[in-house]
Amino acid sequence: MKRVLSNLLILIVIIFIVLLTTLLIPSQSPQRVLLGFDTELVDAPEDIAFVTSALEAHDARATFFVTGDFVQQRPELVAELAQSHEIACHTMTHPRLRAVNRTRLAWELSECTRVVEDLTGKPVRGFRAPYNLMTRAAYDELPKAGYSYDASWFEHLGLFAPKPNMPALRISSWGFVPLEDYFLIKLLPLGDLAFRVMTWNDDETVILDLHPRIVAEHPEAFTKLLDYYATRNATFETHESVFLSSSGG
Ligand SMILES: [Zn+2]
Repeated sequence: MKRVLSNLLILIVIIFIVLLTTLLIPSQSPQRVLLGFDTELVDAPEDIAFVTSALEAHDARATFFVTGDFVQQRPELVAELAQSHEIACHTMTHPRLRAVNRTRLAWELSECTRVVEDLTGKPVRGFRAPYNLMTRAAYDELPKAGYSYDASWFEHLGLFAPKPNMPALRISSWGFVPLEDYFLIKLLPLGDLAFRVMTWNDDETVILDLHPRIVAEHPEAFTKLLDYYATRNATFETHESVFLSSSGG
């Protein structure tokens, strides 16, 4: 009996918390959705073709965080992506930043922008770290390599994550994710790499961290996701456009 009561009490507390959270986080329509695709050697051209055609059908722009070796292997594909989307960097060879020395780190960052800029003729502004794991040294090197913003800030790691010394887009944060969006993403079988939906700086921007190969495995889910935000009149924009508008440029 005692056990039933304590379980009941726990249930009531949970229901109370859920209700409270729902009240505290009003359902809101995001203004902008930033889709970012980490694009690496393992991503097949067919997978990327699926992603781009789905984006095109929704008049959506996105950001592809490419590795330099991917660009070297698929230059035509990246040149085509650059026509409609932002190309940002994801290092040259996708190492764990913690595991490379300073010289190699600087090369990983600057060589990627060189390869992309040589191909597209457009400046690379953004960076996302492999495995989303930034280091203090990487934050020090990014501006030197010409980057303007970072898109790998794992805010919820708190003290364990180095603080950005440059404009940074959070890819995780505590709370303030509209519940509807949270459950949508949780329910969609987009793979566990796509679970992070966040608002950014309270400006109702949703940021999604995706991978072409995983998205292509779940075509209906991805289309449903695009439909969901499209019917709520959100625009799909590049990370760069948000960075440029927030920095007044
Ligand atoms: Zn990656």
